[in-house]
Amino acid sequence: MDIEEFRKNGKDMIDYICEYLAGLGERRVTPAIEPGYLRPLLPSTAPLKPESWSDIMADVEEKIMPGVTHWQHPRFHAYFPSGNSFPSILGDMLSDAIGCIGFSWAASPACTELETIVLDWLGQAIGLPKEFLAFSEGSKGGGVIQGSASECVLVCMLSARAQAIKKLKKQHPFVEEGVLLSKLMAYCSKEAHSCVEKAAMICFVKLRILEPDNNCSLRGATLRQAMEEDVAMGQIPFFVSTTLGTTSCCSFDNLVEIGPVCSDLDVWMHVDSAYAGNAFICEEFKPLMRGIEHASSFNTNPNKWLLTNFDCSTMWVRDRFKLTQALVVDPLYLQHNYSAQSIDYRHWGVPLSRRFRALKLWFVLRSYGIDGLQRYIRNHCRLAKRFQCHVLKDSRFEINNEVKLGLVCFRLKGSDALNQKLLSEINASGKLHMVPASVNDKFVIRFCVTAQHAAEQDIEFAWSVILTIADSLVAKLPGTIKIKDEKQASREEALALERRQREELAYKRSFFVRMVSDPKIYNPKMSIARRHVSASDNVREEASVEEEEDSEAESNAQTLQRPIASWISWPLAFLFQGTFDEAKGSPQLPVRFRHLDTMVRLKSNGESATESDARQPNQKSPRKSPLGARRTRDQL
Ligand code: PLP
Repeated sequence: MDIEEFRKNGKDMIDYICEYLAGLGERRVTPAIEPGYLRPLLPSTAPLKPESWSDIMADVEEKIMPGVTHWQHPRFHAYFPSGNSFPSILGDMLSDAIGCIGFSWAASPACTELETIVLDWLGQAIGLPKEFLAFSEGSKGGGVIQGSASECVLVCMLSARAQAIKKLKKQHPFVEEGVLLSKLMAYCSKEAHSCVEKAAMICFVKLRILEPDNNCSLRGATLRQAMEEDVAMGQIPFFVSTTLGTTSCCSFDNLVEIGPVCSDLDVWMHVDSAYAGNAFICEEFKPLMRGIEHASSFNTNPNKWLLTNFDCSTMWVRDRFKLTQALVVDPLYLQHNYSAQSIDYRHWGVPLSRRFRALKLWFVLRSYGIDGLQRYIRNHCRLAKRFQCHVLKDSRFEINNEVKLGLVCFRLKGSDALNQKLLSEINASGKLHMVPASVNDKFVIRFCVTAQHAAEQDIEFAWSVILTIADSLVAKLPGTIKIKDEKQASREEALALERRQREELAYKRSFFVRMVSDPKIYNPKMSIARRHVSASDNVREEASVEEEEDSEAESNAQTLQRPIASWISWPLAFLFQGTFDEAKGSPQLPVRFRHLDTMVRLKSNGESATESDARQPNQKSPRKSPLGARRTRDQL
């Protein structure tokens, strides 16, 4: 493609994008395809000869679009918003055209400098403490754009780990770093995003996953107790990942309580606010981040809720030197004469190469102004409240979260299986898309306002679809209808019944039904133990409604009999180091082998390793563990 062809095709592409976005509402929000749909439609090898642009674009519409889930669709209410806007798209286009790789100031000065300035702008708008801003008087802090919130959490954990090891090394100069590492313990709430667990996996540290309160908020007393227990066991708390706006239900950890606990133990407190953090640009939502003054680091994703396209995950630290100490490697070919006066962002994250991502955020901040962005956020929050009102007016439903921003969690009063069915039918209809979550051990449906131009009619439409499907489901519930006497049923009615059964089978087979029915999606693993203990009758009742889908969860429940206060996600190498008091005979301890995704019941009383229960989530019967307490420790 030469420059003139690019000019023409580029203009055509803008037209295509405009038509796509303007006509989105006419499409199904989720595709009606099965996994593997694309393979037969495309050749099995790349073309040897160039193909025409028009052929490629024809395939986009015919082959790719049928498999796209339309995240910008007005009926898309799943996950969190995926930021998008014309200024942002154009900013990214320009960044792609400039095509610089801004790993150091010298590699493209504007790329680095704009990032620092724009992060200060956004940090101020959010109301972060001035220590987080690069240009505030005497500040050691600053902001950076990472590719994802997961990277932000990882990078902060790596830095906290480096600081902790450095401090311990001073106290114990002759102890190996590996031994010091084995003592480190990180913390988060059960409601924290799974990226915290992944970060702990990569950092090779233990992570204690704590029980939040009834409002899904991690409290200071819980954290303090856990840390004190661990310190008594010879562990060293070094990092806490708190969440403002959790993924399941948009709950908020109590930073006012957690902050002083972290200060007392000299622990790095990170605040992950991937979604909600964007809302703090509005005065009325700033109180939700009370306690932020205790934070060592903070992240939010403008690519979720600030009209900025993926990827753009903004992160600030109080002390950039602590951050970079964990990440600096400086080969000769990357050094330059200005490193003392400038920021080299390659030291702030995992990758060396970096795109010019600040450009799109700058375009967005300037095109909308903070005022326009506030209006966008407030509109979503107002519409979420409107949806909540609909739910509250119908006594068959309940609300399962405190609706503070744009996310509403709701369910039909009834079993998990009933709600699973409701969600499956809604998604299979292709009219709306929502995903489930587990809130207080219940299967709930998440309704998130996501579209850029979301409006009242979208809420009305969504509620009418939900009602129609709920009505037909409730009507089919035992006790609410009389089963027709077959003999009395006319031929016509029998045919109608047959047709309905066929339709039901078809939707059960559909990809989206299976996706929602997959227990891993709403991760009941952590809740099943408690469900079994406190509501075993309910479990049985659910199984009768949807036996096929619940039988697996039921058999999971049978392996876990006791309520669990917290979970420790362990690197295998540290299993049991210094944890058990052989003399007293330790209690059984449920341990989650994070990367085997396995539940293991451990005994310290000398029983053989193979007596532990360990099984993969999809296995029907328990399997003997290949790794047990004694053997693992002896091996190390
Ligand atoms: N943290 C929270 C609170 C989230 O809600 C999410 C995703 O929704 C993440 C982290 C992970 O975000 P990313 O995909 O940017 O890694």
